[in-house]
Amino acid sequence: MPPRIAWLRYGAAMFSMTAVSKRYGPGFALGPIDLALAPASTTALIGPSGAGKSTILRLLLGLDWPDAGEVRFDGAPLRRADLLSTRRRIGYVIQEGGLFPHLNCAANVGLLARTLGWSPARITERSRELAERCQLPVDALARYPAELSGGQRQRVGLIRALMLDPPALLLDEPLGALDPIVRHDLQAQMRELFATLGKTVVLVTHDVAEAAFLADRLVLMRDGAIIQQGSARDLLDAPAEPFVRPFMTAQRSLKVSA
Ligand code: ADP
Ligand code: MG
Repeated sequence: MPPRIAWLRYGAAMFSMTAVSKRYGPGFALGPIDLALAPASTTALIGPSGAGKSTILRLLLGLDWPDAGEVRFDGAPLRRADLLSTRRRIGYVIQEGGLFPHLNCAANVGLLARTLGWSPARITERSRELAERCQLPVDALARYPAELSGGQRQRVGLIRALMLDPPALLLDEPLGALDPIVRHDLQAQMRELFATLGKTVVLVTHDVAEAAFLADRLVLMRDGAIIQQGSARDLLDAPAEPFVRPFMTAQRSLKVSA
């Protein structure tokens, strides 16, 4: 099947969705959509609440299955039989980190590695290395999630997702629950992290400025359909339909007169 996106040869994408559709009851239908994401790219899914952004992440991860169409990851169709090995190759971060409250942070980040038979020493070393990279104080790993700030919990969630060094990272509103200053700091750190790690990143956010800051490609959705994709500039300069420009510019920015 020929790709709709000329810059990506079919098969070269890290993630692709071809004619994918999904229905939840009578109320919501996603697609059919086509989407191809290049290796090492950072893509932000944006759009109003209920547009289908989280559904796309769940379909890419195999937490949910399309009614029709095909989802591919790293050159192969997603198959239920391969799901465990696929999940190890895709880090997933949700709001507030999605940590187990009854495990301390070291146990949270090491859970999967331990089931894979990593030695305690290797797990500790990797956790410390990532804590440093994600600017989490190493002693925070000894605490329980409830004993950390929101920003620290989010860092622990990120460390857990990066533990097995997956080629891909899916983040669902990872900074949504944070106060503005913490959010601002974490945005800058995440951008640097994405630039240095070379992973394929797909991020859901309702914050257009955050999307433009973190991602090289925006995918704007509404009512289960992809309305437009491209850079923030593309969407502002050549909106595919009247909805695009007001959506991109709706968020208030503070204007202070001199
Ligand atoms: P977004 O992340 O863009 O806000 P979602 O992808 O979470 O939107 O949801 C899209 C629509 O699908 C919403 O109307 C939501 O209520 C519905 N939906 C999502 N998951 C389920 C589910 N498991 N069962 C029923 N409806 C669902
Ligand atoms: Mg969502």
